[in-house]
Amino acid sequence: MSLPEVVAHLRALEAEAGREPGSARLVAVTKGQDLESIERQVLAHGSYPLGEGRAQELRDKAAERPDWEWHYIGPLQRNKIKYLRPVTLVHAIEAVWQAEAIAEAAARWGHAPDLLLQLHNGEEQKHGVLADELADTLRGVRETGLTVRGLMVMAPDSGADLTPPEAETRILRLFTETAQRAHDLGLPELSMGMSGDYPQAVRAGATLVRVGRSLFQ
Ligand SMILES: *Cc1c(COP(=O)(O)O)cnc(C)c1O
Repeated sequence: MSLPEVVAHLRALEAEAGREPGSARLVAVTKGQDLESIERQVLAHGSYPLGEGRAQELRDKAAERPDWEWHYIGPLQRNKIKYLRPVTLVHAIEAVWQAEAIAEAAARWGHAPDLLLQLHNGEEQKHGVLADELADTLRGVRETGLTVRGLMVMAPDSGADLTPPEAETRILRLFTETAQRAHDLGLPELSMGMSGDYPQAVRAGATLVRVGRSLFQ
């Protein structure tokens, strides 16, 4: 696929779900892509936020193209937070200390990114805030003074072992539950869906879909 095809598909999925055109916005995931490919395969078609998942790569690219809109979608380590200066939205906050470190750096930068909290997907051990701890984490993150705009979630890889209809149902359920939690917390943004599962994400109400591979094939 190419970016125009992915965007046309998003518009069709929105229409099917009875959603406003453009309400599921594309975040073009550009990790591993050079600036020339990003220009040719993404920005030649319109202006899109660019999602980077490795902090040093983000710093290097954004230094060359400070006028582009950069999101950080990867995991956050303390010693990498200094590289997030160009970013307008951080998708995967998992702990209050991360927001505190960003707030401290932002005071030096003179501007701050907005944040999304990553919800644990209930199956993988590694990343995300457990559902039970979401309200407390949200409260702690807001105490830093930064703005939390929504939730982010990733479907577990274990879905790949299942036959397609079963995997899709499970992913759709995770996305629908995430949308419900965001709604309950009064959070408007939902970052859900990648190349393999963005149709389910749009059905469940994603407002930001993070697509990489499909744009660059
Ligand atoms: C790489 C990545 C994506 C994009 O995945 P594709 O399969 O390339 O579309 C989305 N979200 C996160 C957090 C990623 O690391």
